[in-house]
Amino acid sequence: MTIASINPATNQTFQEFEPLSKDDVITAIDVANTAYQDWRRETFAQRKRCLLKFAELLRSSADEYARTITLDMGKRISESQYEIEYCAKIAEFYAHGAEQFLADQPMDVEGVKAYIHYEPLGIVMGVMPWNFPFYQVVRFAAPNIMAGNTVMIKHASNVPQCAETIEALFHRSGLPRGVYTNLFIPTEFVETIVSDDRVRGISLTGSEPAGAAVAALAGKHLKRSVLELGGNDPFVVLEDADMAEVIPQAVKGRMVNAGQSCVASKRFIVVEAVAEEFLTGFKEQLSALQMGDPLDEETTLAPLSSESAAVQLQNQVQASIDAGATVRLGGDRPDREGAYFNPTLLTDVTPDMPTFDQELFGPVATVYVVEDEAAAIELANQSSYGLGGSVFTADIERGRRVAEQIESGMVFVNQPTRSQAELPFGGIKNSGYGRELSHLGILEFVNKKLIHLG
Ligand code: NDP
Repeated sequence: MTIASINPATNQTFQEFEPLSKDDVITAIDVANTAYQDWRRETFAQRKRCLLKFAELLRSSADEYARTITLDMGKRISESQYEIEYCAKIAEFYAHGAEQFLADQPMDVEGVKAYIHYEPLGIVMGVMPWNFPFYQVVRFAAPNIMAGNTVMIKHASNVPQCAETIEALFHRSGLPRGVYTNLFIPTEFVETIVSDDRVRGISLTGSEPAGAAVAALAGKHLKRSVLELGGNDPFVVLEDADMAEVIPQAVKGRMVNAGQSCVASKRFIVVEAVAEEFLTGFKEQLSALQMGDPLDEETTLAPLSSESAAVQLQNQVQASIDAGATVRLGGDRPDREGAYFNPTLLTDVTPDMPTFDQELFGPVATVYVVEDEAAAIELANQSSYGLGGSVFTADIERGRRVAEQIESGMVFVNQPTRSQAELPFGGIKNSGYGRELSHLGILEFVNKKLIHLG
């Protein structure tokens, strides 16, 4: 296995990193466990100081860290800058909120006093993906550090510069050694960590197969787990929606991070009364995207994260075209170096095609035309995933009714699904389980201990 930073805009290798040995991993667990013995007793005020310092450090060199993201995985520089700022906000959210989220919860049962008292669990491990290489780590690490756990991260093997930078930032923020540890390890070593008694939980964000593998390990070793897996989010457009507002949102929802987001809008389900208008406008705006160097501010379509990701997407799209899907735009890769993929619009997609139920991680939109609202809801729910989703309508009350019928963890009316520190994030079905962000995110890896004063 190679842990390497390869610029997807050029496919040039920047730097390779040495993986740790098994002995190194055991030593790292020893250090994290020693740190836990003190960190679990540390005051909220001290933990807060560290996380606020982390946020300050992020902001103080935001451009440098944004560049690190873009060079590791190809994201547009303005999106990388946004990601750094968002991480600072998440750190601040938990720094300021943790003490209240974890305050004792009094209960009065038949006149006897009791309360729920929250305590940390120990070392928790995060297995993280490359698509939002700072954000995914921070949304897991920040609440756990505030809760008194210590954190070990196995980051994706294609974003090692980000992995190293995040660890350095946490250390500079004043966290004692072992509270946050980055591990350059192959996936086989994940079991070495999960099987250790001192490690009490694991959280993975990534693909379905990786999630299933980690959930199996967690089950085998009786560890708590949280999974945030893929999505195939519906973007439902009802006949009363205003196309001038909907179409730019469709482009934004699909093209965030060059289409490589678990909550990107992926299936555009449009009621037939407005389908032609939607298709024409959507195609026009997708065609106008400017493919280019992600470091260039003018670029509106970046490369994918790696050459292998672009090849995988091409295979999924081609298999659907071979099976009869209609290509309204794109469908292939441009003739240029780098992991680029043309903006693509497919229609006439049927359940036997890979693009129907697989997650397409790239700038590929599928549009389905349906008769009415009921058919839109039925198709939206015809998915093995259930992460996010959106409904567009002029009538908020109608949007709420439709949203309640969509089988997923999050539904947004009149905007694409998005992440915000204050709002819970997570899915159902094959999109995983558990919640991140908000007050719910900090409750995943804590002991909700009952103290009964009878
Ligand atoms: P993976 O799920 O393989 O990678 C995510 C993380 O899981 C990485 O750190 C990876 O390590 C690790 N991992 C992979 N397999 C295992 C395993 N068996 N045990 C423990 N850890 C494991 O994603 P890919 O990068 O391969 O992307 C493939 C597809 O997954 C994408 O096209 C997309 O559909 C989906 N995906 C979804 C994401 C989301 O946000 N929901 C994020 C990323 C991918 P390593 O890098 O060393 O292999």
